[in-house]
Amino acid sequence: MISSLPRLACFAGLIAAVLVNSGCQTSPSAGPGTGTSTRSSVPTKASQAAMTPSQALQALRDGNARFVAGKPIRRNLPAEVQAAAAGQYPFAVVLSCIDSRQPVEIVLDQGIGDLFSIRVAGNVLNDDILGSLEFACKVSGAKLIAVIGHSNCGAIKGAINHAQLGNLTGLLDKINPAIEAVPANVQPRLTSNHAFVDQVSEANVRLVMQEIRERSPILRGMLDNGDISLVGGMYDLSTGKVQFYDR
Ligand SMILES: [Zn+2]
Repeated sequence: MISSLPRLACFAGLIAAVLVNSGCQTSPSAGPGTGTSTRSSVPTKASQAAMTPSQALQALRDGNARFVAGKPIRRNLPAEVQAAAAGQYPFAVVLSCIDSRQPVEIVLDQGIGDLFSIRVAGNVLNDDILGSLEFACKVSGAKLIAVIGHSNCGAIKGAINHAQLGNLTGLLDKINPAIEAVPANVQPRLTSNHAFVDQVSEANVRLVMQEIRERSPILRGMLDNGDISLVGGMYDLSTGKVQFYDR
């Protein structure tokens, strides 16, 4: 009996390993209301390769729906850390603002290894961020680029107010084209006009998407081939919902 204990422990470990490797736990794309099981698996090279760009978007959509419903997937995060230690195969890369109220993995209900996350005030673009996007998609196999702004964004309001402060000045200058892109009949063009602020945020997301395509031949080629998709979206700070711009 004593001698069979190590064998039993070994068998239990084998079962656990099979479960993790086969992705038997709740998948990242599982729908709302699936918070009854505990996820300890992470994306694998095979699961990433099998995912289409539209499935990647659906996984983000489903994750946000779970978050809004208050039914996130239960995760064994230490087990996910262990499972991801040998390599990462995220299915998407998200460019979003640094705002503390929009923590991407939480509001999209994603776990360890699911997403590359790039965060910068006003979700603007620069060469380093473009390089990070190229790494995420071309080198690491992510299937989707999501640019997600948010309502009532302080960076957008700073740009509208022509705020000047150290290195922030140059960052906010990148948002000026979005201010100009909002039709002149949208008045008043003040930060007190929430509709105007949010229209600038949306214009900023769309211009960043356009810039990604124009400034990166690598990503443009992948988009044209259908290897990846590019989607914009807006996170509502008051509801927790992400509205994607693909429909
Ligand atoms: Zn912001």
